[in-house]
Amino acid sequence: MTVHGVVLPGPVIRNPLLRFPRPTRPRLLLSPPALAGTELDRLRATLESGWVAPAGPTPAAFEAALAETTGFTDVLATTAGTAALHLGFRVLGVAPGDEVWAPTLTFVATVAPAVQMGAVPRFLDATGPGGTLDPGLLAEELSRAARRGRLPRVVVPVDLYGQCCDLDAIGTACERWGVPVLCDSAAAMGSLGRGGQHAGRGARLAAFSFNGNKIVTTGGGGALAADDPALIARARALAGQAREPAAHYQHETTGYAYGLSSVLASLGLAQLPALPERVARRRAIFAAYAAGLGDLPGLSFLTEPNWGRSNRWLTVALIEPAAFGADREAVRRALDAAGVESRPAWKPLHLQPAFRDAPYSGGDAAAALFDRGLCLPSGSTMTPAEQARVIETVRACARR
Ligand SMILES: *Cc1c(COP(=O)(O)O)cnc(C)c1O
Repeated sequence: MTVHGVVLPGPVIRNPLLRFPRPTRPRLLLSPPALAGTELDRLRATLESGWVAPAGPTPAAFEAALAETTGFTDVLATTAGTAALHLGFRVLGVAPGDEVWAPTLTFVATVAPAVQMGAVPRFLDATGPGGTLDPGLLAEELSRAARRGRLPRVVVPVDLYGQCCDLDAIGTACERWGVPVLCDSAAAMGSLGRGGQHAGRGARLAAFSFNGNKIVTTGGGGALAADDPALIARARALAGQAREPAAHYQHETTGYAYGLSSVLASLGLAQLPALPERVARRRAIFAAYAAGLGDLPGLSFLTEPNWGRSNRWLTVALIEPAAFGADREAVRRALDAAGVESRPAWKPLHLQPAFRDAPYSGGDAAAALFDRGLCLPSGSTMTPAEQARVIETVRACARR
């Protein structure tokens, strides 16, 4: 249909779930959104209830379901994982000039809100089979910082590609100096850490993401979780423009519009029951990559330590160019030519121009993972034929 020379998009798709399990796409993507199949029912119930705003029974039900899934007692649903991190920094009192410490091998959102608040990030190197924050290095650096008289306001470890960081060791190191931990578990919904605890448990606060590429999605959303009703109540007030309980608008401070709408929360409610199946699926995808590529010289994977159970949000292959016969960029380009999206592992933040002045502690472990790491398609709805295409393309790059 054309109006005033403007071509309007085609007719509204009456039931997009008719295209379940997923829309046909020309390219195989890293981690496209998957639908559980009950989204329209949930959406209809929400719309019929008349509650559409970020208030009412639907966000509350989503928060209760998240508490049930993660084991946290208190959860706030937010507009994004980044918003949850921002609220976390606010309730932990991050102020201009404060140091905020994070692993260097992560997505920029781990520290971006703190930097925007005037904090100074310090980046630390990665360790171990999972590539997460090195707890030994953290303990050393905290002792050094205590001697300097400048401890960080908060430490933000990251559950890398779904793999839980060693939160026990990190927590012990931080507890010694009274430094709170805000765990960036954005990509780790459904992952387990030590003792079978859900990702993020044990941290003062944990942030989760329901962005379109995550294992559970609301199309855009996040959550802040804690075992601390007062802390989450404070975050909730800030997420709703920091209105004091008064009939008129009364403010002791300023807040944000960070509450998740009921419309999006209903998608989350539909998606959460599918989480166990999706974790199983992504772990099976990893196992198939390991079986299909593991024999190639110079190719290995970012693996999980024996104490955790990753949701395997993304499988990360590590490619040693000399032994493999091609570097990760050559493999990425070959996949691209075959219609397959892949992506280098996170470029360490201490190597980003945006953070050129930030202090860095460690060696080149994270930088080596960036040089060698390639994230492979790992979506919950990827078919065996699609995965075979990825495996064959990677195999064709190897020295023979
Ligand atoms: C996705 C992600 C975020 C940001 O979450 P959004 O919901 O996109 O704001 C933060 N940190 C990590 C590690 C992520 O993977």
